Amino acid sequence: MKTVKIKGSNDQIPVGKIVCVGQNYAAHIKEMKAETPTSPVFFLKPTTAIVPSGGEVVLPSISHDVHHEVELTVLIGKEGKNIAPTSALDYVAGYGVGLDMTLRDLQAEAKKKGLPWTLAKGFDTSAPLSDFVASKQVMNPGTLTVQLKVNGVVRQQSGTHDLIFPVEKLIAYISQFVTLEKGDVMFTGTPQGVAQVKSGDILEASLSDSSGTLLASLSTHIR
Ligand code: MG
Repeated sequence: MKTVKIKGSNDQIPVGKIVCVGQNYAAHIKEMKAETPTSPVFFLKPTTAIVPSGGEVVLPSISHDVHHEVELTVLIGKEGKNIAPTSALDYVAGYGVGLDMTLRDLQAEAKKKGLPWTLAKGFDTSAPLSDFVASKQVMNPGTLTVQLKVNGVVRQQSGTHDLIFPVEKLIAYISQFVTLEKGDVMFTGTPQGVAQVKSGDILEASLSDSSGTLLASLSTHIR
């Protein structure tokens, strides 16, 4: 069973499901030549995809084009269904940063054929996750910055104020149809700048607040 931690606590929290949002930043939609959705687009990753900070992403032989997608992640702290946007943040236990590693060639093929993205998004090691900062330390998840460096060079950086569907709306929307439970993790979508990774790359992702204070970080090595 995969677990995550909240910074400052030694509790190992078992992860329930990983709910991911696609196409939630305008500039990323543009680079993917996709259409802006009118409601959030969700997919799932299995918990077996999780890699803690310091771990490795293993490139699967089935793909020749594996991309990084850095994202704000949200740890759910209690069960909820039909959650109102106004109370949605009460269901959040913590915020972190994660990498939605994607087999872009398989995803493109699946999109073309109208097939599921399961393999393109859910392969082993496709979900590196940081520890989470307790939600009480984050007044507004719409004022954070996610950043990804590859081999020391900034490849992706964006403020969460640019999310088309902010955290409150994502929780409210999905919980109409899928009950959220303690230990569920949500990936909120990637900004522009996605690109291919290669064996040997070092990826360092961070989440910081509006004053530049580091809240969460992860590093991973591509094998
Ligand atoms: Mg993504």
